[in-house]
Amino acid sequence: MSFFDRYNQVGTHFCVSNSPKFAQATCADSFKLLLWNDNIAQKHHIPINKESANLYLSGHLSLDGIEAKALAYSGHQFGHFNPTLGDGRAHLIGSFNDRSGQAYDLQLKGSGSTPFSRAGDGLCALGPAVREFVMSQALGALNVPTTDCLAVVTTGEVVHRNSPLSGAVLCRVASSHIRVGSFQYLALQQDDEGLKTLMELAIARYFPNISEQGDARIIAFLRAVCKKQVELVVHWMRVGFIHGVMNTDNTLVGGETIDYGPCAMLEKFDFEQVFSSIDQHGRYAFGKQPNMASWNCARLAESMLTLFVAEQNHAIEQVSEVMVEFANDFNNQYQQMWSKKLGLLDWRESDSELLSQLLTILQSEHLDYTNTFAALSNSMLDKPLACFKVPQSLLSWQQRWQARIKEYQAAEVSALMCSVNPAVIPRNALMEQVIADYYQQHKSELLSQWLPLLNNPYKYQEYEQKFLAAAPDEQHYQTFCGT
Ligand code: AMP
Ligand code: MG
Ligand code: MG
Repeated sequence: MSFFDRYNQVGTHFCVSNSPKFAQATCADSFKLLLWNDNIAQKHHIPINKESANLYLSGHLSLDGIEAKALAYSGHQFGHFNPTLGDGRAHLIGSFNDRSGQAYDLQLKGSGSTPFSRAGDGLCALGPAVREFVMSQALGALNVPTTDCLAVVTTGEVVHRNSPLSGAVLCRVASSHIRVGSFQYLALQQDDEGLKTLMELAIARYFPNISEQGDARIIAFLRAVCKKQVELVVHWMRVGFIHGVMNTDNTLVGGETIDYGPCAMLEKFDFEQVFSSIDQHGRYAFGKQPNMASWNCARLAESMLTLFVAEQNHAIEQVSEVMVEFANDFNNQYQQMWSKKLGLLDWRESDSELLSQLLTILQSEHLDYTNTFAALSNSMLDKPLACFKVPQSLLSWQQRWQARIKEYQAAEVSALMCSVNPAVIPRNALMEQVIADYYQQHKSELLSQWLPLLNNPYKYQEYEQKFLAAAPDEQHYQTFCGT
């Protein structure tokens, strides 16, 4: 396998050579491999193995002599535009084509400061690295598009946050690092050539069937990106994933989940649920995610307006239509998602009421999102979920639902429901326990039991109570960015 520099054609300011901090300063032996994802290594035939991981993640070895790079990007952070973000603590170490010719990037995170670090130290503490490793793997197994994590090493250095913490570097594998914020950055530089080049890179990677030319090509690209974002956010809603920091710099045009900083799982059902300590106005609350994905796509559309040959007014009309399509596409897919979660093989108009009654019960009874749908799926298998006390209101609703689905084959309903309603999710309290284990002992017995279950989330079987237990009522869970 050979590696290449993927983004250098976009422009020198977009892609800056910069060495990982530890490349010369620290002995590679002070790095210890803590987490390794062999599935990802095997899937892509990545030539890094458990033995050589230290050398690559510390920057002591480069891939085919490629210079590490930091990418520039802008971003709307919580709605406010920041012109110069960029990889402040990450280094792209090389890109490769897999056996089917699809490109992927390998990126280190926590590998030291870059020209984009601003006031940051360029480092990553062990906790967030462990979170990204576990959450990305869990989301992948839940069939949610995501960037992957190959490995996590400790650096042997201390990272200062509120307290001194073990430092870590993780290695991410992503089909690209082309963000909405990457386009915003080039638009800000008035770099139309760069914008076009980046669009072509994204088209070649994700949408090779786009054959239109001229303005129609840009519209087709925007439409395709919107579609990917709709798919992504519908998956998040399906499994109860709350991203927590859906800024435009954390939105990949390829529609993969990236930036696991303050993410968490929805446990008690609530569209207003927010866990991130910095999301004080609930901009990225669970139920707001679809609107925010649409808002981010609109920012991408804006950043491409200068590329249109058509007059600006006409270009704006065209991209506005794409945004209307986003809404329609989302509504369709969202309905299909609920339809599957409820085991309905076709959707009737009256099903909207059935669904809204259920969601009202979930909210008013503070029911666990995952366990409720898992219990409904299990009821089709004539098995109650041991850890779930079903309230009277849900039992009454269940009768209406059973009357509705009895026209289908039970086996078909059950197969459908069990394929979209997970039995096991990466619950917040367990995630925190795993992180605490890693800080204390650089290993976690809990994770060794849990990870195989997270890798098979649709397997309905008897589980230990601790893996299914809903969060307690008095939960005050909070997550933090950039730790
Ligand atoms: P995020 O909120 O994680 O998407 O990060 C926003 C920006 O802050 C990105 O440009 C990151 O590279 C940068 N950043 C986050 N943490 C650090 C850090 N510890 N040192 C330098 N830059 C950072
Ligand atoms: Mg980020
Ligand atoms: Mg982050």
